[in-house]
Amino acid sequence: KHEGPDLNSVLSTRKNNLNPALFTFYKEPVYVHQGYMQYLWDTNNKRYLDLFAGIVTVSVGHCHPAVVAAAEKQMKKLWHTTNIYLHPKIHEYAAQLVAKFPGNLKVVYFTNSGSEANDLAVLMARMYTGVYDCISLRNGYHGASPYLMGVTALSTWRYNNPTGFGFQQAMNPDPYRGPWGGKHCRDSPAQPGRQCDCPQGQCKACDMYVDQLEDVLRYSMPKGRVGAFIAEAIQGVGGAVQLPDGYLKKAYEKIRANGGVCIADEVQTGFGRMGSHYWGFESQGVMPDIVTMAKGIGNGFPMGAVVTTPEIAATMGKALHFNTFGGNPVASAVGQAVLEVIDKENIQGLCADVGTYFIKELEKLRNEFEVVGDVRGKGLMIGVELVKDKASRTPLPAEEVASIWEDTKNMGVLIGKGGLFGNCFRIKPPMCITRADVDFSIAVMRAALRKHANKK
Ligand code: PMP
Repeated sequence: KHEGPDLNSVLSTRKNNLNPALFTFYKEPVYVHQGYMQYLWDTNNKRYLDLFAGIVTVSVGHCHPAVVAAAEKQMKKLWHTTNIYLHPKIHEYAAQLVAKFPGNLKVVYFTNSGSEANDLAVLMARMYTGVYDCISLRNGYHGASPYLMGVTALSTWRYNNPTGFGFQQAMNPDPYRGPWGGKHCRDSPAQPGRQCDCPQGQCKACDMYVDQLEDVLRYSMPKGRVGAFIAEAIQGVGGAVQLPDGYLKKAYEKIRANGGVCIADEVQTGFGRMGSHYWGFESQGVMPDIVTMAKGIGNGFPMGAVVTTPEIAATMGKALHFNTFGGNPVASAVGQAVLEVIDKENIQGLCADVGTYFIKELEKLRNEFEVVGDVRGKGLMIGVELVKDKASRTPLPAEEVASIWEDTKNMGVLIGKGGLFGNCFRIKPPMCITRADVDFSIAVMRAALRKHANKK
């Protein structure tokens, strides 16, 4: 039963007392009051299938019983010490979390959000390399702190204010919308086998993007030296843009040849969501020096982390560094429970199975509807790009995207939206959805797309 103010009073508070830059999804906003696993209920107790998971944050399911139990148990015992005394939780959790990483990624810093994690990662890279200037990719989102506003390269998130000096952006290797293509040079479970002419590892488009990255090094970095390069394996906010195979490998080589370290932003792609791998960077066959994570790490509890090598961490010992709430006992208990559920319930395998099925079914919609320009992704990190027509790839006008989107919501499915033009549907549900949920989602999307097509 819903307890709390009615819709009008909530809308009024939102208008008058909350951050004016807040945006609400949908023309008729959804007023939710409860969640369980892959479902949300609004205040009229209408149930929705949640395919966006609070922006890719609810990893193992809304209010997953094992995570709730772990939080509840710890809340009754001890909440906080700021780590000035020893307590078991942060140590148990740190050991469990770093065990999920390959190589020498052994030291973890706990934060409370993804922005804090990326802020720290960039600082660490600069301290370690002694070079301030860094590179990110256009269309990447890495956070909204003043430091990170210069790293995030989506104009929609930029204030007209000097922030985040020292970052240059390289061209985005977008296989669908980028000028050099590479559409068939990305790993897709729906298109097994490569469908382009270039031999494995020698994608021409990919090489051109790498050359452009080299240009940024040559023209914009101090004597070609670089502090860090940061990228996601699949860009989240940017509309599930999947880099062509081999891009990150070649980019990492160039960065390292110029003295830089490589940061993998796993805020959206981590914790098994890719299906084939636990971490997004593994799916690209690279080994980062610093990994940042947040969102799914806590299944909706505010948490983040940075994992790095002992050598890089050592430079941070030159001054005091601490985070009041990072790794607090409750957060650590939640984080442990999430890791355990992912293993126990074979969440990564489920992402591979259900995600691949989802992508294949979406491919059918792409074949049926002119406006479905591109279907991409891996596991349960999926994007659908809507266009005016397949030949021009012109983004579908915002009002048409909004009307399809509103219809899917009215039929009980909540989908994310993103991309620079706001024309990408983002499907990144709690990782507990089933094939039956996929069938329902596809039926709803098909009905909404058909209605749109009939209007033409
Ligand atoms: N990195 C990525 C890839 C993200 O998607 C986000 C959030 N959308 C962030 C960093 C920043 O995380 P937070 O909002 O927790 O600061």
